Amino acid sequence: MMDFSWPAEDLRYRDDVIRFAKSELNDDIITRDKEGIFSRELWQKCADFGIQGLATPQKFGGRLPEVDILRSVVAMEALGYACKDGGLVLGLNAQMWTVQMSIVLFGTDEQKQKFLPKLTNGEWLGAHALTEAESGSDGFNMTMTAEKKDGGYMLNGEKCLVTLAPIADMAIVFANVNPKLGKWGVSAFLVEKNSAGYEASPVRDKMGLRT
Ligand SMILES: Cc1cc2nc3c(=O)[nH]c(=O)nc-3n(C[C@H](O)[C@H](O)[C@H](O)COP(=O)(O)OP(=O)(O)OC[C@H]3O[C@@H](n4cnc5c(N)ncnc54)[C@H](O)[C@@H]3O)c2cc1C
Repeated sequence: MMDFSWPAEDLRYRDDVIRFAKSELNDDIITRDKEGIFSRELWQKCADFGIQGLATPQKFGGRLPEVDILRSVVAMEALGYACKDGGLVLGLNAQMWTVQMSIVLFGTDEQKQKFLPKLTNGEWLGAHALTEAESGSDGFNMTMTAEKKDGGYMLNGEKCLVTLAPIADMAIVFANVNPKLGKWGVSAFLVEKNSAGYEASPVRDKMGLRT
């Protein structure tokens, strides 16, 4: 018989996350929601507690030798339950699972060394930029192109609806290196915000997830 119950250690960690979220993350939430304020201080508290570290192996600054998906699920469920700041929880999940995890799975050692420690310790925020105004669900039909130049690629185009984009220090940006190849031309680029031509527009007023 298979035992599907949660290991005691995971349940203890879930309780730790609930205690942490209730005591550290919920102050001033009404004001922050009304004014649409993202709290960098709370982001840092989460990093110091080890939340971002769940999506990074220890070698690059993470919590455990390897990313433990069950431990992470229990932690993110606990955060969703106890933290009233939905924008913060969305931002954490977006960075951890679409930026950190993508680098963990597909990055080179050099890329892991460069980006993961900073994303994990709270120093940097990362975004995952796929969506465009004319190609949401239909991501492979993106119009952003990447042209090979001396020393790298030049990306040309615009993304939208990207979580954390206005304040991100780096982004994984998807672009097509050869539109004739259709979806097979799509590739991912690690772009730092200080790259020439990189522009992030301010947050638009929106309903929900305002923090
Ligand atoms: C809170 C939030 C955070 C986000 N964060 C990110 C992010 O970090 N990075 C990023 O790149 N994007 C992000 N997005 C964008 C998100 O990925 C897109 O909204 C999503 O891909 C859908 O695209 P769209 O909004 O253009 O809708 P559309 O593609 O226009 O779809 C509209 C509706 O039509 C339906 N539909 C579309 N095509 C078909 C079809 N062929 N058959 C049947 N039904 C269809 C869809 O299911 C949907 O109900 C975010 C969006 C939200 C709301």
